[in-house]
Amino acid sequence: MPGTELFGSEERKEINDVLETGMLFRYNNDQQRNGIWKAREFEAEVRKITGAKYAHAVSNGSAAIAIALASAGIGAGDEVICPPFTFIASIEAVLWIGAIPVFAEIDETLCLSAEGIRNAITPKTKGVCLVHMCGTMADMDGIMAVVREHNLILVEDAGQAFGASYKGTSVGLFGKTGSFSFDFFKIATAGEGGIFITNDEATYKIADAYSDHGHNHVGNNRGMEQHPVLGFNYRISELHAAVGLAQTRKVPHIREVNNKHKKALTEILSQTEGITFAHLSDPDGDSATFLNFFLPDTETAKRTVDEMNKAGIGGFNYWFLNMYHFINQWDHLKTMQTASKLPAQVFGMSQDYTTLELPKSQEVIGRLISFGIRCTWTDEDVVALANNIATCAKKAMQVAVMA
Ligand SMILES: *Cc1c(COP(=O)(O)O)cnc(C)c1O
Repeated sequence: MPGTELFGSEERKEINDVLETGMLFRYNNDQQRNGIWKAREFEAEVRKITGAKYAHAVSNGSAAIAIALASAGIGAGDEVICPPFTFIASIEAVLWIGAIPVFAEIDETLCLSAEGIRNAITPKTKGVCLVHMCGTMADMDGIMAVVREHNLILVEDAGQAFGASYKGTSVGLFGKTGSFSFDFFKIATAGEGGIFITNDEATYKIADAYSDHGHNHVGNNRGMEQHPVLGFNYRISELHAAVGLAQTRKVPHIREVNNKHKKALTEILSQTEGITFAHLSDPDGDSATFLNFFLPDTETAKRTVDEMNKAGIGGFNYWFLNMYHFINQWDHLKTMQTASKLPAQVFGMSQDYTTLELPKSQEVIGRLISFGIRCTWTDEDVVALANNIATCAKKAMQVAVMA
């Protein structure tokens, strides 16, 4: 959780600016707010880092995905290809806007693969909800080729990958729309917050209105203007935006330090036979919030995590921990336990999730160990950690040889 490691006077200053005026609402009261517009500044900072033409801050990353999907034109009854490895929010967002999640295979990038997407396409497929997992990015060249060939709407949930890019372009800008999360566990936090991005003005205008009951925010008095679409309340408060702003400014520094640490960890660990690494489709674009490595098989991965926990290092395997990031933990989804009937249940689900098999994804996630990188570590900390992890992996593999 790099951003939260660096919580300090910068965040307090931005929050105090807001408290001085008492204007916690992001719109209106131009006089009283005395030039303080934190949500707007937060958005400008995100535009600067991502290069997006438009950015809109909202209440959280889950809302940002729903807004990204809806404003891209995906809705009731549309099939959306989704990964089985993501935080459940991506799947919920697809269901909440009335669409039907169709799961496809991921690969060693930890993201949907081009081949996985291709194999899941049906006549009802409208779009792809691509999730850039663990701070890295999907294989965008391959994925864009499939998306173009089949005329699909690409929406990127880059909730975990703010600051990451592929061949110089920020994640979130390959699709029609993209989203980031600034919850407490991401590279930068607003406490709670999300950002929607796009390069398309018309789409931005819909997203802007949709995220605030349809208000189009033209003119000075929000509330009395035009309402081009029906929407909902996904607004961010000025207090959250203030924190998000201070944190976002720290992301270039965090990226740099974390990349240095990740390279050092990778170099030491690559000397241990049996350890391999998640595929980085663009190593230069990594936000490096996690080191993601593989053991030869699921059992060895589990034993390695056990050894790491015994040694007090941390690190986790998404397969065994009830971390809520892999489809084998989503029993409520498999049997569609919902508070009230969702459109997908009315239209009819496209896949039977209870019998769905995704062998490639299972194999990848079973062998995966993820390890959060901290920007406050020293270089000595990193070397000690890498050696510790290597020892744990060797112990685990030794058992495998003897058995
Ligand atoms: C964190 C996360 C979200 C949810 O964001 P919130 O701000 O917690 O709503 C969505 N997608 C992914 C991939 C995430 O990691």
